[in-house]
Amino acid sequence: MLEKVVIANRGEIALRILRACRELGIKTVAVHSTADRDLKHVRLADEHVCIGPNPSADSYLNVPALISAAEVTDATGIHPGYGFLSENADFAERAEQSGFTFIGPRPETIRMMGDKVSAIRAMKEAGVPCVPGSDGPLGPDDAENLRIANRIGYPVIIKASGGGGGRGMRVVHGDAALIGAISLTKSEAGAAFGNDEVYMEKYLENPRHVEFQVLADTHGNAIHLGERDCSMQRRHQKVVEEAPAPGISVKLRNEIGERCAEACRKIGYRGAGTFEFLYENGEFYFIEMNTRVQVEHPVTEMVTGVDIVKEQLRIAAGMELSYKQKDIHLTGHAVECRINAEDPTNFMPSPGTITQFHPPGGPGVRWDSHIYNGYRVPPYYDSMIGKLITHGEDRAAALARMNGALQELVIDGIKVNVPLQLDIVNDAAFQQGGTNIHYLEKKLGL
Ligand code: ADP
Repeated sequence: MLEKVVIANRGEIALRILRACRELGIKTVAVHSTADRDLKHVRLADEHVCIGPNPSADSYLNVPALISAAEVTDATGIHPGYGFLSENADFAERAEQSGFTFIGPRPETIRMMGDKVSAIRAMKEAGVPCVPGSDGPLGPDDAENLRIANRIGYPVIIKASGGGGGRGMRVVHGDAALIGAISLTKSEAGAAFGNDEVYMEKYLENPRHVEFQVLADTHGNAIHLGERDCSMQRRHQKVVEEAPAPGISVKLRNEIGERCAEACRKIGYRGAGTFEFLYENGEFYFIEMNTRVQVEHPVTEMVTGVDIVKEQLRIAAGMELSYKQKDIHLTGHAVECRINAEDPTNFMPSPGTITQFHPPGGPGVRWDSHIYNGYRVPPYYDSMIGKLITHGEDRAAALARMNGALQELVIDGIKVNVPLQLDIVNDAAFQQGGTNIHYLEKKLGL
């Protein structure tokens, strides 16, 4: 097993990683910005190192500071969590070149998946169903690009190969707008991502976001843990997630999940990963792979009983997966509501001191959060301050439990999005299951 791990992140995921390390007997090093001295995991870690001032660019994104924190503490591994440097191939490479175990895929895999054109090509070759598209970057020939669009059929979406975070995309409805849209997306992509390569896909009008969780070790074993539905989104940010996805048959789950696992074996994938798909009219269309642990991993843990972060640590230590595919069975249903320090009506961030805090409890209730009474939510980082997860024997039971847990949760002193989450959980269409990625914004009148 790894001896000592640097947790290169903050907030709830840093605490989640710390807990997994403790269970496995791994020592922990918390790294933090000056604003984050009071984070819960900093207090619990075996050692802690301040890596820089408040802005992320100077601390959590500061590669030399992170590497030297690992060096001065004699750490053996680095866990990047999600966000920040978790999908930065150069960081993974620097970590490994400096002699640390990077708890994630090989740098070249991260690099390949970070480039959407190469990711789609690799997935297509591995038999994963993709969105009909240009099968590669668009060239300078306008007539050829018009032909591609007409072959795919409008509407189409022009996407930047290096894009991320829902940026660098443009929907086109007919020939008249195509050429202008391609050159505009290209110049924006060049400026934003330093890579002006763009490609074209069929634009799916009312899809759901359904993603598959995979785990792969360094001995050629790969399994899938079923899927999650994350269609409840605002501005491409997930708000509620659940597992399994409503209405997906066992047969379809096994078929798509096995193709994802097989793709992992083919590309020599290492660690935990997520295949993101759009799902429409009973078909799955791959859009991208996330090469890290995800915010919504707990819903999968609740229905499978697999501790995904512990598996990440075991895989990084060179151990075999603890499970074979036949060991994975889904039990009941799980839902996660992201709890954000923000105004529930206008979504403005609401940093400040938490004056009173009471977490919910009871059977099937999980609260993943770093907050405590008196904790001051800093204004510098993402507004998510916790995740409320409920598990029940079926979807209705999980939702009823979520409704109760949201009402029990008390966070005073700052504004939180609990009223919005209660509204969603009690929404008739959501309760039916299967609402698409536009549902929440329409409901909010956006
Ligand atoms: P990013 O890396 O920026 O998150 P993705 O490729 O994951 O980019 O796409 C982000 C979101 O954009 C998707 O969740 C979906 O809402 C929308 N989107 C992307 N591609 C398509 C498509 N072909 N059809 C419809 N919507 C799409």
